[in-house]
Amino acid sequence: MIIIKGGALVCPDGLRRGDIALDGGTIAHIAAHIEPAPGDTVEDASGCWVFPGFIDAHTHLQCWTGMDWTADSFETGARAAACGGTTTIVDYATADRGVTMDEALDEWHRRADGTCTANYGFHMAIAEWGPDSAAQMRRMRDAGVSSFKTYLAYDHLKLTDAETLQCLECVRDLDAVLCVHCENGDVVNELQHEVLAAGITGPEGHPLSRPAEAEADAVSRLLYLANIAGAKVNVVHLSTKLGLEVIRAARTRGQQGIFVETCPQYLTLDDTRYLEAGEDGFAGAKYVMSPPLRKPADIAALRDAVRAGEVDSIATDHCSFNLHGQKDRGVGDFTKIPNGGPGIEHRPAVMATTFEGELGPMELMRLMSEGPARVFGMWPRKGRLAEGADADICVWDPSARWTISAATQQQAVDYTPYEGMEAHGSAHLVYVNGVLAARDGAPTGEKPGTYVRRS
Ligand SMILES: [Zn+2]
Repeated sequence: MIIIKGGALVCPDGLRRGDIALDGGTIAHIAAHIEPAPGDTVEDASGCWVFPGFIDAHTHLQCWTGMDWTADSFETGARAAACGGTTTIVDYATADRGVTMDEALDEWHRRADGTCTANYGFHMAIAEWGPDSAAQMRRMRDAGVSSFKTYLAYDHLKLTDAETLQCLECVRDLDAVLCVHCENGDVVNELQHEVLAAGITGPEGHPLSRPAEAEADAVSRLLYLANIAGAKVNVVHLSTKLGLEVIRAARTRGQQGIFVETCPQYLTLDDTRYLEAGEDGFAGAKYVMSPPLRKPADIAALRDAVRAGEVDSIATDHCSFNLHGQKDRGVGDFTKIPNGGPGIEHRPAVMATTFEGELGPMELMRLMSEGPARVFGMWPRKGRLAEGADADICVWDPSARWTISAATQQQAVDYTPYEGMEAHGSAHLVYVNGVLAARDGAPTGEKPGTYVRRS
């Protein structure tokens, strides 16, 4: 057995000081004092917070966009996740047009199986709707996929409102949850043309073409459609105060089954980043992601919502592309910059640092562990520090001080949006299925991650 001694245990009902014993892939015992037997491995966690391993329920690893592969594979991305304290990811498998969900799920398993340091589940993104889609979704549910995704933007991915409604009815019947990318795609297409025609071609054109109203409009439409269908939805990567106000209004009306996700970048970075020049005059492209970074007032509103418990989970939307060789292809036309940024490794550190004094270990645990476990059908096996739960553990040292930098990161990409941030706290020991996967930010070389069937 592995015995982790003397930490502050972040349990579902509050903090406890004590010891925790891992036996194989399970938390065997939690007590004020556990006496090690001969042969046991003992780790000292005094001064540390012992979390149920963090869950990142929004990643895109080893993903082909039609132009590029993401910089991170399942191997590098899941390893970086574990080094930062994340023990489970839920990645977006995508059934592109002409591909069945069954084929997509098989393909994502081929990419991930056997290579992952952290555990992994899959959402299924649906890019077209047809007479067989409902049957395919039922088979996905049987295969442990309890969440789906549709888009209200991107011409090659988006469903019509009628198709979205049919999909929501199916999600309701399967007791699943639909994650939706909420931007009005027609409006974005039009504004991209207008911004380019006005001669704005650099990264600063990106946020101009994707205004807050485009998000709020799509969130509003989605929530009304979900209410008609009686389905549960997860608004992914919420980025605006306007969108938040739409959600508050629906919740005030009594609509059930609305889950909200946001990401560290929308809680910390504003749209002045698009003006960053850097060495080659193009550094603003690092922040080209959709939705874009917003105004300080949006950041303040979302941070208020996080503190008030209105946000169910913090995920990264990790979708990494190199600045050099990938994003720089969009020099002279911001619409050609691959959309996405890295974050899978640094989410716990960025959250703990930028909310220091505002969120304690219980709140961090709810946002990054229990919350996503509950929304995505992994509770109570995951997201819970309790006897019988999975031995996914992050021993967090809140006194550690270090600097986030691309030079020292595990993520296989040539930058980080958080370059130079002094982080307060770091993942000291990370166990995945009871196996030590990372120590002090470095991988042990083990690949204990397994597929997570969700219910
Ligand atoms: Zn995404």
